[in-house]
Amino acid sequence: REIIPENHPRKESLLIREKIVEAMEKGVVVPQGLIAHGRGECFDYLIGEKTQFFAEKAIEAAAAMLLLAKYPVISVNGNMAALVADDIVKLAELTNSKIEVNLFYRNEYREKAIAEILYRANAKNVLGVGEDASLTIPELFSQRRKVSPNGIYKADVVLLGLEDGDRTEALVKMGKKVIAIDINPLSRTSMTATVTIVDNIIRAMPRLIQKVMEFKSKPNEELMKILSNYDNKSVLRESIVFIANRLTQLSFSL
Ligand code: ATP
Ligand code: MG
Repeated sequence: REIIPENHPRKESLLIREKIVEAMEKGVVVPQGLIAHGRGECFDYLIGEKTQFFAEKAIEAAAAMLLLAKYPVISVNGNMAALVADDIVKLAELTNSKIEVNLFYRNEYREKAIAEILYRANAKNVLGVGEDASLTIPELFSQRRKVSPNGIYKADVVLLGLEDGDRTEALVKMGKKVIAIDINPLSRTSMTATVTIVDNIIRAMPRLIQKVMEFKSKPNEELMKILSNYDNKSVLRESIVFIANRLTQLSFSL
């Protein structure tokens, strides 16, 4: 294994990369997950590797939405389990959310491996593994998706990260509110979600947890107000304008 020098400017990013590679070697992440991660790394360069104001706004809306939800579910894939397992469990506890393994490339070995990581992070119950994913929901492009009758199928709010566009669209078409953590504001997932957090999931999850703890004591009316003042289109627009301006500035600083 390559040793990452202490003073490397992208040390953090390289350590995360190692985590994903390790997870792939253990069969938790698929090779396609590595490609998705690389795409994410590129967008992190573009937004300046920091949580920006447009993400902060979406995180507030997401916290309010989770606290107001009747049946929230956190959908987990291999990359999420490899990167933010502890945060997933913490957020689920704080918001009374179910946790469901939901994979683009379904395979029981991987479902169990991901559930195992979540249980080791102290999850009480993990849905969507093997027989539990017994219901089918219609999807346009990918193979029809299996979900748990006690999880995504029943959910009013679904939080997901690094998700494929067709799958996100299928959930929205079923009338579910979708909170997406996707660092690419141009992806179809970002464009179709109800609330899009344009940020690295590694930074977004702890902030979302923080916001939920802060909002937990607020009355529902106040949370509803935060949500009704939230405009996902304009947040996406702000993120794209931010990248454009940042690149222009960078081009002048050469
Ligand atoms: P779509 O299908 O939504 O049009 P896509 O096919 O580009 O998008 P997928 O590979 O299906 O995307 O999903 C991965 C998405 O997750 C990408 O948009 C990628 O930028 C994003 N992503 C990758 N790593 C991270 C990360 N660490 N945090 C947040 N988002 C990430
Ligand atoms: Mg896709």
